[in-house]
Amino acid sequence: MATIQVIPLGGVGEIGKNCTAVRQGDDIVVVDCGLSFPSEEMPGVDIVIPDFTYLIENRDKVRGIFITHAHEDHVGALPYLLPKLSVPVFASKLALALIRPKLEEKIGLKGLDLREFSPGDELPAGAMTVEPVRVTHSIPETCCMAVKTEQGIVLFTADFKLDFTPVDGKLTNIQRLGELGREGVLALLSDCTNAEEPGWSPSEATVKEGLRRAFAAAPGRVLLTTFASNIHRMQQTIDVAHEMGRKMAVAGRRMEQTLETCSKLGYVRIPSGLMIQLRDSTQYPPNKLAILTTGTQGEPLSALVQMSKGEYSRLKIIPGDTVLYSARPIPGNEASIWRTVNRLFRAGANVVYQAPMPIHVSGHAHIEELKMMINLTRPYYVAPVHGEPRHQHRYLQMARQMGYPEHRAFLLTDGVPLAMDETKAWLDEPVPYGRVLVDNSGEPGLTDDVLRDRNNLANDGFVVVTVVVDADTGEVVGPAIVQHRGVHGDSSTMDKLPDAVADALNVFAPDDIRDVDSVRREVADSARRFLHKRMGVRPVVIPIVVEV
Ligand SMILES: [Zn+2]
Ligand SMILES: [Zn+2]
Repeated sequence: MATIQVIPLGGVGEIGKNCTAVRQGDDIVVVDCGLSFPSEEMPGVDIVIPDFTYLIENRDKVRGIFITHAHEDHVGALPYLLPKLSVPVFASKLALALIRPKLEEKIGLKGLDLREFSPGDELPAGAMTVEPVRVTHSIPETCCMAVKTEQGIVLFTADFKLDFTPVDGKLTNIQRLGELGREGVLALLSDCTNAEEPGWSPSEATVKEGLRRAFAAAPGRVLLTTFASNIHRMQQTIDVAHEMGRKMAVAGRRMEQTLETCSKLGYVRIPSGLMIQLRDSTQYPPNKLAILTTGTQGEPLSALVQMSKGEYSRLKIIPGDTVLYSARPIPGNEASIWRTVNRLFRAGANVVYQAPMPIHVSGHAHIEELKMMINLTRPYYVAPVHGEPRHQHRYLQMARQMGYPEHRAFLLTDGVPLAMDETKAWLDEPVPYGRVLVDNSGEPGLTDDVLRDRNNLANDGFVVVTVVVDADTGEVVGPAIVQHRGVHGDSSTMDKLPDAVADALNVFAPDDIRDVDSVRREVADSARRFLHKRMGVRPVVIPIVVEV
């Protein structure tokens, strides 16, 4: 029997850009194809995607990409992989409806093989098959993926919680998960985002009461911000606004699109007469209005952030507004979120981010639910994914308490396959992996050099050093000309820079001076050394050599 490899290409030891391959002989199944968002050390970077080298090198073996749910960290990199890999993409009806317009916008739909599945389908994947199993999360139609191999089932939990009162009434198929356990789960790849959280995650339904109270306490307009992909939360906000006799408008293009798609397909129920256009909102008294908006993470281009700055032409914050933060900060975004909150307060709004009754609950399982998943599916091996190392460690601690010895519980990292045969499992030789940065140009592959330059520019500015050389005599003509922007420090030191460059070039013989490339290098190196030594700064240095 073939050795089975589970190969994480992203999303392990980090939150975001989920993408994992399962390989059996000459067949590869890919589960999810997500993106992550840049950290503050990545200026100008829009998104981060996995390095797909392994999949591209093995493109003849890839049988399909199987999508667990339509969150960006699971689907956002599809437009970058599909042009290089012509394989079917299997996804739920809702996921396909949300993915399709993004693919159309970025790469066009021509030649793409998008296939819809329902939970319980047996999907072909070479000598393997894949069965999606319904699970609850913050977006409808989330599915665990049971990849059926010769050695047993490799089960991806996807992002999940065990919500027994889900907003759409569609429960986790616990019975099927139990059956899969009996059929034989070789390995469980489990969400571990909330492994540090005790007990059970509160049901999404509990948020409704929190929203009711927050709405009732609001003297004027209610602006509620949540993720454009949190469809259950949008439904609850719609329900509460309706109950309270408020009209509802939406500020944010993505949110509008998602709501439109979801209501068309029946995933969101909007009472007739509830929705109004944002431009008509001034016709209603403030206490009869609710506005749903994006910008929970302080994204600069989002509606809420622009409103907080008074730069959103379609809506101004006015005293008496109540802004409900119905989301949790993604680590790394805290600073920009607080800046937005402070600006909103300054503009006269009351911002509610901690209410006596919760106005946000997580879509990810707490520790008791994670135990329940193990208990249901009885995997031989467990490996936590979709979490940072601290979450993975906490999960493994829990697994040990549940009786999993070290050789059956694995701490995975991106790029290192977990290999399993009939008798054992081990960490295999690494495959190519990493992060690929995409900036506004849309062209993936921004290099570390470019990133370093951007950071140096942002921190220390730049210096242009121009040197004129006489090609006939092989001599430097006159002192170097220095121009700079964004450099701060003792200006008399900067005045000495031409001397430092002249000293460095002094040792060059006439023939060396005629070698423009080496002169350029020396000008840059000597200027960098001088500025760092004397001023402690590392600006980007641009050397220009002019021949006369
Ligand atoms: Zn996720
Ligand atoms: Zn998710």
